[in-house]
Amino acid sequence: MNVIIFGAPGAGKGTQAYHIVKKFNLHQVSTGDLLRIEIKNKSEIGKEIESIIAKGGFATDDIVNRLIKKVATSPDYRNRIIFDGYPRNLNQAKNLELILNSDNQYINFVLFLKVSRNILEKRILGRIICEKCNKIFNKFYDKNEIENHHCGKNYFIKRKDDNKEVLVDRYDEYMQKTRPILDFYSSRSYFYEIDGSDKIDVISGKIEQILTV
Ligand code: AMP
Repeated sequence: MNVIIFGAPGAGKGTQAYHIVKKFNLHQVSTGDLLRIEIKNKSEIGKEIESIIAKGGFATDDIVNRLIKKVATSPDYRNRIIFDGYPRNLNQAKNLELILNSDNQYINFVLFLKVSRNILEKRILGRIICEKCNKIFNKFYDKNEIENHHCGKNYFIKRKDDNKEVLVDRYDEYMQKTRPILDFYSSRSYFYEIDGSDKIDVISGKIEQILTV
């Protein structure tokens, strides 16, 4: 199955994708992660996008579509993907259908995590990530888990774009460019809206139910 998890920055896409991957043996394909790897490796793409991402803008569709095509059609990943952070605009949504359909694959579920703006802010400003296992924590809510995390404390990083100034731009980008794709998907039979302000476990439970139908 192929799943899209969709919502504003901080809605919990990465956290839930982490859970779904383990539970359903899927692969998480996060364009944000793919782009951050390019930046870390100082590749040509990395150099081109570093400052754009730091300011909360979007990488070009061409770059992101190329990265996605490579992963989505690879034998290890195909038909076992959860897309996190992609598609992010209408052009990307249409492109994803083309890529999948031309490879005899389809989207089976679109999960929309709906969360209010003030919750998003607190989640983003508190977010820290274990660089080793990719698990996401919040320094305001998860003090014990952070203290006892099995990878140890040396791998925790904060994303450069998780700060108050950039947050405003990222939210505006989302409202302007990403939110319109709701109309593209919301009439489809595989579209599900989920209250993303619930506790992590509650949301995971709801998602599990949807995906086991
Ligand atoms: P994320 O990790 O999903 O929050 O993405 C972090 C940043 O990477 C975003 O603010 C964008 O600058 C960039 N990015 C991630 N996914 C995409 C995408 N599908 N299209 C364009 N830019 C993206």
